[in-house]
Amino acid sequence: MTAHASATETEHAVVVDRSSHSISRRRIPENVLKVLYRLHRSGYRAYLCGGSVRDLLMNRTPKDFDVATDAHPAEIRRLFRNSRIIGRRFRLVHVIFQDMIVEVSTFRREPERASEENAELLITDDNTFGTPLQDARRRDFTINALFYNIADFSVIDFIGGLTDLDQKKVRVIGHPDIRFREDPVRMMRAIEFASRLDFDIEHETYDAILRHKHEILKASPHRVSDEILELLRRGWSRGAFRLMVDTGLLEPLLPEIFRAIAGERAPYFWKMLEVLDRTVQSDRKIPDAVLLSVLLLPWVIEEIEREERRRSGRMRMGEVLVFIRELIQPICARMALPAGTRHQIEQALETLWRLLEPPADRRAQFRFVYREPFNDALALLEIYAFSSGKYVDVFRQWQSFAQRVKRAEGEAPHHPRPRRRRRRHAH
Ligand code: ATP
Ligand code: MG
Repeated sequence: MTAHASATETEHAVVVDRSSHSISRRRIPENVLKVLYRLHRSGYRAYLCGGSVRDLLMNRTPKDFDVATDAHPAEIRRLFRNSRIIGRRFRLVHVIFQDMIVEVSTFRREPERASEENAELLITDDNTFGTPLQDARRRDFTINALFYNIADFSVIDFIGGLTDLDQKKVRVIGHPDIRFREDPVRMMRAIEFASRLDFDIEHETYDAILRHKHEILKASPHRVSDEILELLRRGWSRGAFRLMVDTGLLEPLLPEIFRAIAGERAPYFWKMLEVLDRTVQSDRKIPDAVLLSVLLLPWVIEEIEREERRRSGRMRMGEVLVFIRELIQPICARMALPAGTRHQIEQALETLWRLLEPPADRRAQFRFVYREPFNDALALLEIYAFSSGKYVDVFRQWQSFAQRVKRAEGEAPHHPRPRRRRRRHAH
């Protein structure tokens, strides 16, 4: 079924012509324009859609440029030699250029539900083509449902996204109760957009999050963890975690962390997120394991302290590692983190503990710097120290020690690592 917009459909829309909006083609990458123009010249509709239209209208730099069209995947595939069809659930086409991939998808509509009375609304199949209006309606928020039409350079708004953009509101499209039950990850996305764009969550949308927060546990753990990682990776975690606490979404999701930070129990946690956001926004890449360790840290510190009180004494280093490993195992499993990431988190946290009590022996310090998790642990220590005000000197010592070691390494190209003395075995 090919979807052609009917006359009545465009009557639904507010169309803003090129002279009345701020999107300039100069801000759209050449490859994206190529895709749009070729579809258009071949007789198809070709719209820029999703986050790119929102970001361009706000004068922000879009992360990616998605294209929506009435051409079907096989037709799109035929138009672009450099493309491939991907996706099982909803097939879309990737047009591959040297430095970017342009995602082209066919307009689609909300999938039919098995039965309206069916209380189970979770979407399981969404491979149904639709009209541009239907495509706008199936999207999550009004500000994410705008189109930029390459045929006449107009912006098409079927559901009031322009007003909400103007009023800085994140508003669910359709009935929030239904839309959040269909896909509980949308609750996290509402929070994410509010934090990153500095928007308010419109009150019906907000109230619906309060009502449906527990349903977040029905969402795929992979998707939820991806959302959490994205908040941290892209530098808008502080506002988002604040909203997750305020709406109550964090409590079912990560109860351990919620308890460790609730009611300002760990003020440095908020400071850490602030430092982290600033750091990643300045384009410094922080590994996922460090980002997640930051999240776990207040809880891990509290649990270690509790355990040491219980034992009435400090744990030895080997014991700390075992303790951390057992402590974080369930949360990592719930978050469906890959084993490699979990291992890196364990190592980063354990090494952090080791860094807090630097070995007196210089050679031992030296070996430390070459241990694989050193850099992760140092990054973690940096964030922790500057947020809590503790261990700042310890951090500085390690940092300058590591710099000296690396400088020396650069000056001695043939000895990149300290040579281990070979044990001589008397065979
Ligand atoms: P970003 O700048 O982070 O990429 P984005 O708005 O482009 O933000 P994406 O996750 O790339 O977000 O998704 C692209 C578009 O797909 C969104 O703008 C929205 O229209 C739609 N979308 C994404 N996730 C959902 C969802 N869970 N439910 C409905 N529509 C969604
Ligand atoms: Mg996007």
